[in-house]
Amino acid sequence: MPTQLPSKGTLYIVSAPSGAGKTSLVRALLERIEGIQVSVSHTTRAMRPGERNGVNYHFVDVESFEHLIDSGDFIEYAQVFDNYYGTSRAAVQALLDAGQDVILEIDWQGARQVRAAFDEAVSVFILPPSREALHARLAGRGTDDEATIARRMRDAVDEMSHYAEYEHIIINDTFAHALDELSFLVHAERTRVTRVRAAHAPLLAALLSRVEDVE
Ligand code: 5GP
Repeated sequence: MPTQLPSKGTLYIVSAPSGAGKTSLVRALLERIEGIQVSVSHTTRAMRPGERNGVNYHFVDVESFEHLIDSGDFIEYAQVFDNYYGTSRAAVQALLDAGQDVILEIDWQGARQVRAAFDEAVSVFILPPSREALHARLAGRGTDDEATIARRMRDAVDEMSHYAEYEHIIINDTFAHALDELSFLVHAERTRVTRVRAAHAPLLAALLSRVEDVE
């Protein structure tokens, strides 16, 4: 896999079991902070009601997805719950080159691939506040049978078992608090000397220009 990616922006990986509130948190983060965008993944899963092609995902068939794999178009891809999911290299690179921070909302398998290829990627795992809260979220409106809910819980526990592979953990206890933590993380990343150097080169040059002696 060719490695290049991050240039001006920061690459974030955000993972969570389904039911932890990841998508709502990321959406609220984008409303709160400028200069950060979420990457739109490709998937072979069926579109759900309310979803839009090109907005939630790029919905493609298995043949097209496998063609994209073969052409090396993905930074990472994985099979999650019987479907393929992958992140387009060109789209992410274009955003990073334009100075945007980019969030990848991907599972632990994709996160591993991205971390292995790009050291600078900042990884965050979002956990629910309790097992009961997770169960309540996964049980939804009570229309699903016990076996379906149990399968979702097993998938969630499996995803959560990888939490320690991430640099940052946010527990989504109250939404506002979790959103603060995610926002602070992004703001703190932007104060890194490497980022400030890249983003404020003219300011640094002006501040450090030599002061002439006055006789
Ligand atoms: P859903 O089908 O519910 O939207 O997403 C199912 C799972 O696929 C979630 O855990 C989500 O993080 C993961 N996922 C979504 N897009 C990608 C992607 O591009 N790559 C990988 N590896 N996982 C993804």
